[in-house]
Formats: sequence, C-alpha cells, structure tokens
Amino acid sequence: MGTLPIVYNVANFQKPAPGNPALISFTDVTTMFHEFGHALHGMFANTEYPSLSGTSTARDFVEFPSQFNEHWAIYPAVFNNYAKHYKTGAPMPAELVAKVKRAETFNEGYKVTEVVAAAELDMQWHMLPASAPLQQPDAFEKQALEKTHLLIATVPTRYRSSYFSHIWGGDYAAGYYAYLWTQMIDDDAFQWFEENGGLTRANGDRFRRMVLSRGNTEDLAKMYATWRGKEPSVEPMMKDLGLAPAGR
Ligand SMILES: [Zn+2]
Repeated sequence: MGTLPIVYNVANFQKPAPGNPALISFTDVTTMFHEFGHALHGMFANTEYPSLSGTSTARDFVEFPSQFNEHWAIYPAVFNNYAKHYKTGAPMPAELVAKVKRAETFNEGYKVTEVVAAAELDMQWHMLPASAPLQQPDAFEKQALEKTHLLIATVPTRYRSSYFSHIWGGDYAAGYYAYLWTQMIDDDAFQWFEENGGLTRANGDRFRRMVLSRGNTEDLAKMYATWRGKEPSVEPMMKDLGLAPAGR
C-alpha cells in the first residue's frame, strides 16, 4: 500500500575535456527526453499490483510514453528554456532551430523502408504454420519481401534472416513491428496535444491520469482510444517523417 517507486535514468554521455563544460548533442538531448518518458511512466504509476505497474506493459506500447516525450525536446516553449548559448545565455537563433527541425526528416523514407521490411520479414517467418516444410532462408526472404512490395533495389534489405536476431530472440519474435507501431501512436498522441492547447498542466494531468498512471491494468488499445477520443491514425506519423503528401 502506498509504495512509492524509485526510478532513475542512467545515461552515458561524453565527458567534457578538463576545464570545459559538458555540452551534449541534440541526439543525446532527445535520448534524455526519451528515457525520462520511461521514468514518468514509472513515477506516475498508481496501480495495485507491481506486475501491472508503470512500464510493465506489452512491447508494442512500452515505447509509447518514451517516444512521445521526445516531442517536447523540440517543442518551442521547452526548447527555448534549455537550448541557450553556454557562454552568453542567448537563445538558439531561429535559423539554426529551423535547420535542426529540417534535419529531423532527413533520409526518413529510406530509414522507414528498412524498418518496414524488417517488420514484414519477421511477421512472414512467424506466419508460417507449424506444418510448413523447412525453408531455404534466402529464397523465403526473397518471396516474403516481394509479396509485401519491399524488395527494393534502392533500399537494400538491411536485416537479413541469417543475422536478424530480433526475429527469433530477446522476446521479440513477431514483435519487431512494435517500433513502428509505437511511433505511430506517439505521433498521434502528440497531435492530440497540438489540437488541445499543447503543453498545459491540464493536458499533462489528463494524460497522467488516463494513461501514464495506469500501467497495464486495462486493454491498452482501449486505454489509448479513451484518452485520445478515437483510434490512432498513421497520418501524424507520415507528417512527422516528412512523408505526407504535399498540402496535408
Ligand atoms: Zn525506450
């Protein structure tokens, strides 16, 4: 009863040279926001059973609060609060901020195609029935990717069956899609904030009460839809990746 969680983030950022301040890259900043999203999921946990608490959720949900939290790293009110010149304290020039934002969508078409191919390949292997004969991995892979329109010369298959360990191990079997799925949810969730006044205390409290505090105590898709007011959709993710059709 009333057991408070102890949550900490441990990061491995580069040490500054002696006498110099620690300045971290934007990638590391984003990682920090990501891990802090996991931390909030644990700190706000308010459930009866530890086994259903905080981050003890399904794989295709657990990265949602953390990836969602990354959005705040570049959110103007938050960004302007920390992205200051280390000597003068001046905010980062708007031009440079715009560049950082543009760089976020660099090469996303290529990267997302690699991950979609990996997720489909994983799924195709796991959809083989137990009665299927032994497969020749290269031949199986080729037809699996052809069938899902992912055998693309300009985006060579990055994760091949012979070394793609997430197909078989580490509790991932048939779960590689979780990366894309949680990305879809986190972008969709951020859109809700954008549509409802952004970073406000009321919005944060509502998210905490309806999602972050609840761990794995109810059907996660239902929990999400109740908070969001509808099922998640892929459009916000396409927009964030810079892949939405022009004008949308
Ligand atoms: Zn994570």
